[in-house]
Amino acid sequence: MDHPMCGSGARWCARADAIFDVPEMHVLDAEVDTQQRLVLTVESGQVEAGCPACGVMAIGHGRRVRTLHDAPCFGRVTLLRWLVRIWRCQEPACPTGTFSEAHDLAPPRTALTVRAVGWAADALSYDDTTVSALARHLGVDWHTCWDAIEVEAKARTSDPARLNGVNTLGVDEHIWRPSRIGVDRAVTIMVDLSRDQAGCLHARLLDAVVGRSGSVYKRWLRDQPDEFVDGVETAALDPFRGYANAIHDGLPDAVAVLDAFHVVRLGSQVVDEVRRRVQQDTLGRRGHKQDPLYKIRGLLRHGVEHLTDKQQAKIIACLDTGDPTEEVNLAWQCYQ
Ligand SMILES: [Zn+2]
Repeated sequence: MDHPMCGSGARWCARADAIFDVPEMHVLDAEVDTQQRLVLTVESGQVEAGCPACGVMAIGHGRRVRTLHDAPCFGRVTLLRWLVRIWRCQEPACPTGTFSEAHDLAPPRTALTVRAVGWAADALSYDDTTVSALARHLGVDWHTCWDAIEVEAKARTSDPARLNGVNTLGVDEHIWRPSRIGVDRAVTIMVDLSRDQAGCLHARLLDAVVGRSGSVYKRWLRDQPDEFVDGVETAALDPFRGYANAIHDGLPDAVAVLDAFHVVRLGSQVVDEVRRRVQQDTLGRRGHKQDPLYKIRGLLRHGVEHLTDKQQAKIIACLDTGDPTEEVNLAWQCYQ
């Protein structure tokens, strides 16, 4: 395949195509624009096309630039300048006239590539992130991002068999700080946290719904088949009371557990709070870098099994001098 716009030689292009990794697509150019976004110019290798209406071979009718947002790359918002081929039907009696080439890169009239939507849906399902953060990484607004994720989530979750065998249900909320009062842009994600026979966790996305209140989750549970609801033995929740109520009402036989990530975060928050309070009580001010408790504020967050003997000795010594009532020590022991 020759690359007419690329002066760097076929080897560079072949490598760029391999990194870009979209079948039948070729990278012609890569640059960083004034907004510090990575912009790749791409084209397909399509050399002929039949008219979608009459099937007669079409002839080339120039290009049109279509801008798409792809998954972020090298820490940058990544745009594609796709030089879309325009074809013209040669059959005089055919009403088609001209038409654009189609490619799996992105369906018509979308702002995001298929890969970008998959990336965002995965991130929302499995990472601790928000729709607004994903929108920022993609360089699009919240609605563009969420609309695409919602379509993808519905497509992924349209198979009723996905609910079979779910015995552990995970729920997480992804908050978008509202720019206007009364606008709730949170998203609630339901994930299958069941383990397979080998004990492996696959964390499959089950559904994604706009809204954060427990009633959203409760309504979702109510819409699910009885066999599914009855099969859930454990429901992992974000420490948000509304969800706990929904689990309590909707899954009365399930045991509500906090998932490990949220437990650790809550535990370290408590240790931090107690440490700050004791500092205030004993010193009459906030901690400074010479104060014993302040010196170990980072170490206290780690699991003791990950600390060296020297680090553990530092914790003990600093607690001895800075924690006369042993309150920090107690909180830390509980956290561990
Ligand atoms: Zn035609």
